[in-house]
Amino acid sequence: MVPGLEKILLKVQKPGRYVGGELNSVIKDKDAVDIRFAFCFPDIYEVGMSHLGMKILYSCLNRMEGVWCERVFAPWTDMEALMRERDIPLYALESGDPVKDFDIIGFTLQYELSYSNVLNMLDLAGVPLLASERRGLSQLVVAGGPCACNPEPLADFVDLFFLGEGEEMDCELVELYRAHKKKGSSREEFLREAAHIPGVYVPSLYEVKYGEDGTIASVTPHSGAPKKVTKRLMLQMDQSFFPKSFVVPYLEIVHDRAVAEVFRGCIRGCRFCQAGFLYRPLREKSVETVNRQCRSLCETTGYDEISLSSLSTSDYSKLNSLLDELLTWTKEEKTGISLPSLRVDNFSTEVMDKISSVRRSGLTFAPEAGTQRLRDVINKNVTEEELMKTVTTAFSGGWSSVKLYFMIGLPTETLDDVAGIAALGQKVVDAFYANPNKKKGKGVSVTLSASGFVPKAFTPFQWEPQDTIEMLHEKQRHLVSSVTTRKIICNYHDADTSFMEAVFARGDRRLGPVLLEAHRLGCKFDGWNDYFSLARWRQAFEACGVSPEFYANRRRSFDEILPWDHLDYGVSKEFFRRECEKAYAASTTPNCREKCSACGAACFQGGICYENR
Ligand code: SF4
Repeated sequence: MVPGLEKILLKVQKPGRYVGGELNSVIKDKDAVDIRFAFCFPDIYEVGMSHLGMKILYSCLNRMEGVWCERVFAPWTDMEALMRERDIPLYALESGDPVKDFDIIGFTLQYELSYSNVLNMLDLAGVPLLASERRGLSQLVVAGGPCACNPEPLADFVDLFFLGEGEEMDCELVELYRAHKKKGSSREEFLREAAHIPGVYVPSLYEVKYGEDGTIASVTPHSGAPKKVTKRLMLQMDQSFFPKSFVVPYLEIVHDRAVAEVFRGCIRGCRFCQAGFLYRPLREKSVETVNRQCRSLCETTGYDEISLSSLSTSDYSKLNSLLDELLTWTKEEKTGISLPSLRVDNFSTEVMDKISSVRRSGLTFAPEAGTQRLRDVINKNVTEEELMKTVTTAFSGGWSSVKLYFMIGLPTETLDDVAGIAALGQKVVDAFYANPNKKKGKGVSVTLSASGFVPKAFTPFQWEPQDTIEMLHEKQRHLVSSVTTRKIICNYHDADTSFMEAVFARGDRRLGPVLLEAHRLGCKFDGWNDYFSLARWRQAFEACGVSPEFYANRRRSFDEILPWDHLDYGVSKEFFRRECEKAYAASTTPNCREKCSACGAACFQGGICYENR
């Protein structure tokens, strides 16, 4: 137990977040290991514990001889205040040892608004925030996850980034670290060699120069670092590591169930979707593998619900066979199956019958835009007819509640497109009442959820300006006033947080000092509406003489050097440009199963690009 912890646990909300000792957590003899890895999730326990990537890498690293990987989460503000008051440094849950004593401190970057928490956690740990101020080999700060595709805003703080999937790369890095620790190398010697592990990006080995107009003039590698760093990925999903068990929390977490991954990547190519491009090409697991992994997880955790995870689970080519296989044991054991990401255009009665034969959860779909023109612009490839067919099927099957996700502020959007969201919601309501097979005595509930569009790196919209906060507010008001029935619940995301997300999603190294200043001003938990303060962030930008609008609201030209141009995720810049031009012509691109569009991801020589040939 951490000294002094017992006394404060009774004073904080949910003390179970801070004690460790859960079923399946890994305890090793610290005298028998030579590498201590603190795996940090820059948000609270309930959010971090729901994250599949962390579960995979935690088990993967702990499989290694002599390596002990432990979990660290951001303490909620009540706990942090008491820890600071009593000089309790940030500690790891398994051993209770201070994070500052670890060899490697790894962060997973899932969303840009967690960056202030990265700094706050390092500070609470007593680790120097700036990479240039950390000496020796210990306290090596590393980071991975989707936001590592544009890591530049964090370049001052992180020693190295992992691009892509970490199962092999993280282990190779740990082995290299072990060798350098043994021979007593300096941090610089280690980093220079680490930069040669495919997928590892060491920002200090790249010099960035800016032109007079504020755009990047050049990015130059030195000390033998590669000109371009290419992401890593697992080509054979059936052979790639997957944990047999998960740590089972004492308290309820956001996704409190077993999660099996059915495939990585996506065939679709929605033009706003960063994940859809970052994880290309699509690589599926076999039915046998997924079924075995589900069984093992349920046996070792006691969970009675399995979620079949991916970017778009109804695109899994063997979904029906998988559900049949799963039902051979889940039905008897009363284990629920949930499919969190269904598409409107391939939702079938057969699949619905199979999930509803066990347990029924609410249905959510993401048409993303209210009119066909705008859905073509974003390459959503979903028609109104398909949506109506799907909801009618669902209503006949007994569902009476549907949630639809949209974005506002998409390129080329007009107020008519925004009103189209409400009109589509109304058509869904009408489809319910027109359906003779609907559940008797029940009304319908349709929720329209609209988030602000955030242009992201490595997408066809990476050059686009984001709507200003005022424009987003106007569109939100227009959406609400276009809804005319109480059967429709309408909610939208805070435009201020979408703006800050857009700043960091396409930011460069000049945002480092801003982050430092924002941290000094007390910014943290920016993904939480109660804590996010645009005024405080604006103060930090002003103090550093940096304009956030330069990053969020500016249209880039196609020939501008983008902060992430020296990083390579397989999909080419030429493809993104072609897709951007097609978006303006409202011209769609077929999915990878229908036709390969030569995006570039075939360079990895695997997945659907090769299966199709
Ligand atoms: S190369 Fe073709 S098949 Fe492969 S991910 Fe790109 S578009 Fe899809």
